[in-house]
Amino acid sequence: MPGPLCLSWCEHQVRVEGGTVTVGTEGCARDANVVGRVHSLETFGTVDGPGTRFVVFCQGCPMRCQYCHNPDTWEFDKGEERSVAELLEMFERNRPFYRRGGITVTGGEPMAQPGFVAALFRAAHAAPAGRIHTCLDTSGATFSANHAARFSELLDETDLVLLDIKTSDPALHESLCGLPARHALELGDELARRRIPTLIRHVVVPGLTDSEEEVAGVGRIIGDWDNVVGLDLLPYHTMGAVKYERLGISYPLEGVSAMEPARAKELREVALRARAARRAERSR
Ligand code: SF4
Repeated sequence: MPGPLCLSWCEHQVRVEGGTVTVGTEGCARDANVVGRVHSLETFGTVDGPGTRFVVFCQGCPMRCQYCHNPDTWEFDKGEERSVAELLEMFERNRPFYRRGGITVTGGEPMAQPGFVAALFRAAHAAPAGRIHTCLDTSGATFSANHAARFSELLDETDLVLLDIKTSDPALHESLCGLPARHALELGDELARRRIPTLIRHVVVPGLTDSEEEVAGVGRIIGDWDNVVGLDLLPYHTMGAVKYERLGISYPLEGVSAMEPARAKELREVALRARAARRAERSR
């Protein structure tokens, strides 16, 4: 039996079931009312997942990456509340443009609001005009294997993950980002267990994360995860510095130059060779 048809994401949440019209309070209607704290929205994003995407930037992040170019997303009590219904309505207004894309939730840290993102993704999958592809862009900072159940509903509804591996060096991770590396690693293990397609992203910062040893370490880490579908090495740029000035925060990487994109490409090859070696080792 097909489930009830949800006609609208409007506040009336009208549903039609066996010819009877009801105003629902559960299922997709329940999700429509869920609110999250959002920093900003981008209606035509092209860098956070496949195709053209509706991108939701969540407010709040527990990490403090020295190279973060969104320090205005850090504080949890800023931003504004947005409901799932409101976001889906905005998506539907431009649906034809997202034919090969979908919705991406990034941040800040979207996994700091797992209930909200789970509701948004569930509603996206159940959208009356057709299933919407969902992508989660995360550092994994709030994930812990001991509390994996908290994230279960969210991961059940996630089609693609963009997972940041900040560095393969655990000591550097703490000084570079302010939190231990284990959160991202435990999330990576969970995504592999669930076989959720995952694209790994690693920012290459001159003098910090640009050694061959460092990126080979990243390659070895992802060599353990069979669900990895890609690796992006993102060259560090200095465009975020101006935001720190505006917020009156001192910029931790003052004086560090932008990374040469060509060198980042070479380092990606190093990482991929290390990944292949690790996979060969595992298959022995
Ligand atoms: S995890 Fe992302 S949003 Fe949070 S501090 Fe790091 S780069 Fe910034």
